[in-house]
Amino acid sequence: MESETIHVHSVAEAYLVLMVRRCEVCDRGPLEARADLTKARSGDGQWELPTNCPTCGNDDVLEFRIAPEPTSEQAATNWVNPTQERSRAIDLLGWLTLFRSILEASKKETDKSEIRKLAIECAQCLDEALKFYEPDNELPNQNAFFSEESLTRFRDLPQQFTRSRWLHERSKLPVVVFRTPKSENAGSRRWWQVWRRRDPRGNFDGPDKGQADI
Ligand SMILES: [Zn+2]
Repeated sequence: MESETIHVHSVAEAYLVLMVRRCEVCDRGPLEARADLTKARSGDGQWELPTNCPTCGNDDVLEFRIAPEPTSEQAATNWVNPTQERSRAIDLLGWLTLFRSILEASKKETDKSEIRKLAIECAQCLDEALKFYEPDNELPNQNAFFSEESLTRFRDLPQQFTRSRWLHERSKLPVVVFRTPKSENAGSRRWWQVWRRRDPRGNFDGPDKGQADI
């Protein structure tokens, strides 16, 4: 198995990669974390996240590089990307799929504060998705798609990828403000685990082919 370094902007984004990634062995997804993301012993700035495929049971370790280097406070927040850069780990289709999955989870939620948190998570996914568009272009460039499969999805259904549609969805969601050190967001809760738990495997339609609309 090749060892590829995945470049992310935060601890939160590293965990989100699991949701859109497929198993190297059986080609199914998503993957689950076997343990926490930790600094690799090699000391060259790499992070490691042990994973398990719930479909075939394969264990693997994903290697990450996180820039900017997360502080412990930032690592405890849900902040996906403290920079203006596009994601290099999750493509446009991936962010839109995550948005839809979290939105569906929030519809099943009854607690108001949880609904609010999930709305902020949805908003961040759309913020990442919208970075793949140029301001004057209604459709994204092909480099917004990191795999032949997601590019094919775009070519087959371009109407699902119009910028105005996703701007409209974003306008319904809250403005995201993180006050990094020791803010009220710096709890121990890992939201990507929360909505995963409520939407057990089988319902996630991210990496699989031929699923419903975004
Ligand atoms: Zn597998």
